[in-house]
Amino acid sequence: MPIPTDDRDRPCAVARLTNRQLAWRSIGIKSLTKDELVKQEQQVTLNTEVAIALLGGVLGWVLWTGAIMPLTNLKNTLLGHLVIPFVLSIVVSTFLWFVSLSWVRQRKFSKIAGIHLLHGKCAACGYELKDLPTEDDACIVCPECNAAWKAERVGVQHA
Ligand SMILES: [Zn+2]
Repeated sequence: MPIPTDDRDRPCAVARLTNRQLAWRSIGIKSLTKDELVKQEQQVTLNTEVAIALLGGVLGWVLWTGAIMPLTNLKNTLLGHLVIPFVLSIVVSTFLWFVSLSWVRQRKFSKIAGIHLLHGKCAACGYELKDLPTEDDACIVCPECNAAWKAERVGVQHA
């Protein structure tokens, strides 16, 4: 997997989402999200996220019906065959989505970075990159984390 780098090819972090943004990401319904940044990120990672969620759902179902249910006395009950596997699918799916999100965002870092920069935020730490000088190599250096970004990528579109 590629290591995220800034525009001077130095390794950098991936800007974290705020809890609020994370909550919107978990709901995953683009039309409900007000946050443009979240919306655009979601667009980039949607396919991977859906695949992971489906995998989680199947895993939850198989885990219950194949491994756990036979050990219980819920065989041949509605609870055992429908309610619990359904709930477990959602739980495992959400859990898998949550633990894989940082990996998913790292994998698509070049696009994710572009979105954060477009909103005038450092792609490595989320710091507001306003009114900062452009250096000789046309980069703006983040005062918070030292990551360098091409000034042309840093937009004025604020969310
Ligand atoms: Zn930064």
